[in-house]
Amino acid sequence: MSLKQSSQRSERKAGQFVLPGERLAVIEEFAPDAGTYVKEGVIHSAVVGQVSFDTQNKRVSVHSLIHEALVPKVGSTVLGQVTSVQSENASVRIFKVADKVISGAFSGVLHVSDVQPDYVESMFDVCQPGDVIRATVISEKNQAYHLSTKDKNLGVVYAFCSRCGYMLELKRQGMHCPRCGKIERRKMVLDYGKAMF
Ligand SMILES: [Zn+2]
Repeated sequence: MSLKQSSQRSERKAGQFVLPGERLAVIEEFAPDAGTYVKEGVIHSAVVGQVSFDTQNKRVSVHSLIHEALVPKVGSTVLGQVTSVQSENASVRIFKVADKVISGAFSGVLHVSDVQPDYVESMFDVCQPGDVIRATVISEKNQAYHLSTKDKNLGVVYAFCSRCGYMLELKRQGMHCPRCGKIERRKMVLDYGKAMF
C-alpha cells in the first residue's frame, strides 16, 4: 500500500465516531496524540469519541465524547446526595456535574477540614444523610473525588429532618422542621431551598 493511499484512507475517517481499540493510522504516517495508544506500530483509539487528523503536524487524536461532559474533574462544581455521615467525613453520591446530570455512579468524600475556612468540630453539624449538597472537586484519585464546601455558595442546598424526613426550613434559630419542630444544624448555602436541580 502506498503512502498516498493510506493517507486518503485516514482522511476519510476524520471526524468519524470511533470506539476503543479501533485502528486509526500507522506511526510512519501520524504521531499518536491525546486519546490514542500505539500497539505494534499501529495507532488505536483509547476512548469513545471523534477522531481528528492534524495533517499539518501529522498528529492523530481522539476527542472523547463521554469523558468531557460526564466525569467530575478537579475544579468541577458538583451536586450530590449525602449517603452517610461520620464525625470526620461525609460520603456523597455525585449526580450532577456543572449543569449536566451524569449517568455513572461517582462517589465523593467531604472531610471535616474542607467544610469551611474556620474549624468545624463534627460532620454531624454540617450535613445529614439524604441532604443535597453543592461542592467543588479538590482532588481525584482512582475515581474517588475529594470535595470542598469552603465557599458561601457551597454547602447544603436541601436538607431533610433527621427525625421525620421533612424538608427543613431556614429560620433565625437554625434549620427548622415545619412538621415535627426539630431544630438542626447544617452548613447551608446562601440560596438554601431555592436552588434548581
Ligand atoms: Zn421533622
